[in-house]
Amino acid sequence: TLVVGVLALQGAFAEHIHYLESVRVKGHTVKAIAVRTPEELATCHALVIPGGESTAITRVAARTAGLLPLLQAFVADPERPVYGTCAGMILMADADGVGGGKRKGDGAAWGGMQGLRVWRNLYGGQLESFEQEISIPALANPERPFNAIFIRAPAVHSLVASPNYTTEVIASLPAERVPAPPPADSALGAPDVEATPYVMLRQGRKLVTSFHPELSGDARVHQYWIESCVLGR
Ligand code: GLN
Repeated sequence: TLVVGVLALQGAFAEHIHYLESVRVKGHTVKAIAVRTPEELATCHALVIPGGESTAITRVAARTAGLLPLLQAFVADPERPVYGTCAGMILMADADGVGGGKRKGDGAAWGGMQGLRVWRNLYGGQLESFEQEISIPALANPERPFNAIFIRAPAVHSLVASPNYTTEVIASLPAERVPAPPPADSALGAPDVEATPYVMLRQGRKLVTSFHPELSGDARVHQYWIESCVLGR
């Protein structure tokens, strides 16, 4: 049995549990559990960090004794499969790699996606939420588009290249949907305008999407993560 934890401190965790449990992989049973304590995290082979509010997730994690450092160590370990959606993508950026939005002192990310710098709320507020069919060639039935749902979504600000890791672009927004790039920032520097369309990125066992795949009635992104990042097939 493959135990996959879904961080359940705040945000859209119940849907992830449901989608993960619907994933069928040969030779394994996927068991998805809600993670709220260090003990629960210790039973997990892999972890999903859901959407919600990245600052709130960090704040709640810090209230449970021992949880935040354990989460940070789990996320930073390249051997640990971790998938971050939306707020989860923000939390998987470089520690000092988050710009935009209001940062009430909880802005530091946890890492995992090396060299990833993000800009919060680039697409605007709740009323600017949107759905967009995107092509994701890595999924099963690749000819069928994926209906990606963006809710106060972050965007990639820039990707810092290094010989120590490879960042794969798994999916991008179509040209007509790409927003104006994030601004230059005193901490992050100039945006990498080529990276603005990227909405799904992978580094080995780590995956991030700026959209919410657990709301689309389509478990192919979860299936992809389990098969490619968790099982390494
Ligand atoms: N805007 C949120 C944040 O900054 C992310 C939104 C989401 O996860 N849907 O954390």
